[in-house]
Amino acid sequence: MGFNIRPNDLADLCKWDADLRVRCRRCGRRAAFDLVSTLNYFRGRGWNTSWDCVAPRFVCKGTSDKPGCGSKDMSVGMYPRPKPPRPEPKLTELEMRQQAKRERH
Ligand SMILES: [Zn+2]
Repeated sequence: MGFNIRPNDLADLCKWDADLRVRCRRCGRRAAFDLVSTLNYFRGRGWNTSWDCVAPRFVCKGTSDKPGCGSKDMSVGMYPRPKPPRPEPKLTELEMRQQAKRERH
């Protein structure tokens, strides 16, 4: 499975653990959006979450210090999330005591 697969719905990105990436076709500005908040935003407004209906909802707004060009010609894609680092295995209390004993000898 590669990332050339086209989702049918915004919610499909959950399956691939990806966030939404939006790119402006006019000025090339890119932004990544958290999938859950974007889904909630769409659903909260009763917007269709079909993949074809996602891009037209975005405008190249930018941020206050870096304003966008205002274009509505946006393309959307998937943005795979970085894998979280594996948690360190934790020693149980017994193992810690055994280790402390070993270090004393
Ligand atoms: Zn733009």
